[in-house]
Amino acid sequence: MLAKKFLSVFVIVFLLLSYIPLSAQDDLIIVLDPGHGATDNGSSAKLNGKTYYEKDLNNMVTAHLQDSLAQYAGVKVYLTRYDDSKPSLMTRSVTAGKLGADLMISLHMNALDNADYYGGSEIYVHAGNYLPEGAKATKAIATDILKGFEQFGLKNRGVKTKLIDNDKYYMYDNGQYADYYGVIRYATMVRVPAMIIEHGYMSNKSDLEFLSKSENLKKLADKTAEAVAKYYGLEKGEGQKMTLKVQEGLTIGSLPTSMVVGDEISTLTATGGSGSGTIHYETNDKEVLQIQDGKLVAVGEGMANVYAIRDTDGEYQAKMSDNYIRISVSKPISTPTPTIVPTPTPTFTPTPKLTPENTPTPTLNPTTAPTVVATEEYSAPTNTSAQTATTENTENDFWTAIAVIGGILAAFLIVSFVLLMKSKNSNKKSRRR
Ligand SMILES: [Zn+2]
Repeated sequence: MLAKKFLSVFVIVFLLLSYIPLSAQDDLIIVLDPGHGATDNGSSAKLNGKTYYEKDLNNMVTAHLQDSLAQYAGVKVYLTRYDDSKPSLMTRSVTAGKLGADLMISLHMNALDNADYYGGSEIYVHAGNYLPEGAKATKAIATDILKGFEQFGLKNRGVKTKLIDNDKYYMYDNGQYADYYGVIRYATMVRVPAMIIEHGYMSNKSDLEFLSKSENLKKLADKTAEAVAKYYGLEKGEGQKMTLKVQEGLTIGSLPTSMVVGDEISTLTATGGSGSGTIHYETNDKEVLQIQDGKLVAVGEGMANVYAIRDTDGEYQAKMSDNYIRISVSKPISTPTPTIVPTPTPTFTPTPKLTPENTPTPTLNPTTAPTVVATEEYSAPTNTSAQTATTENTENDFWTAIAVIGGILAAFLIVSFVLLMKSKNSNKKSRRR
């Protein structure tokens, strides 16, 4: 547990080190994060025979929001991705940190399996355990956004927070529980106020009817921009829609495909990509492999993938390596613990009855079964013979006693017989007399 806490500190230290705003600006920097991407479609639902994917609706509402926010003076609006890629949650938040964002908005659509009755909008913000000022700002903005959405008939499900209170690995370095959603958690670590807007439920028919139309997504984007403008005191004018170029292919260098728990690799490499963004590494399972202090550390058994990411430099968007290294982590081979080997006693000494293959040899592992079996085999006959000897001795003593007693009795009878005969003779003599 303590070790885990230290690891989370490493993650935070890494994130803070990587948070070096690219330039000091007076503009309000807003980073929009279209949720999911690439093969991850997010939620999906059917309406009038057509399947809608969350990823596409997220892209549409993000494009509208970038337009809406760019209508305010002194605003620069970036996106975390401009193509159909899927940056990791950490990469999205690190991008916001690198760009010196004042606010990050992650855009999503919700869904609940077979729950048409459940619908409405909700927004997740920081719980405030680590970045209280960010929590305050995002809560105020989010409350206003949801009030705006209500005007279109979307149920206001409220501003929400969620913590990971069952895993100390994800604690913030001030010892407080971390926010549950990765985008918010990593944004907190790079000190960017962030929120996740769940515009509505695709599983709810009336929500989906509304969300499936681009003009309605524009209405939601306008309400969101109004709430942001109100909070920061923005005025209508000329903002800037910022673009980041897509990087060339990035490749992570070769790594061993198997490691043992406790192993560390400090020579992580990657080639390619574009721009001058720093390269960092990520794994897809923190229970198996972790990046600690720039090193790859095997922490648990299992399989995990390692990726390289070249962060944004303000000109190119962040890029995850096209390849990854899949590493299998196994338990360390346990050091043989000293086992108590039964000390052979004279009674257990192998006798000529032993067959050669049963004879214990130095190559035999002392703890293996044959020795035990052999011991039992040898001890049994020895014990039996000992018992037999004892019985024989007892019998000898018995017969000796019988012989002695018999001898005494025989002697007694002979003496008695002799005396009796003498007495008879004298009686005859006397009668004769
Ligand atoms: Zn989503």
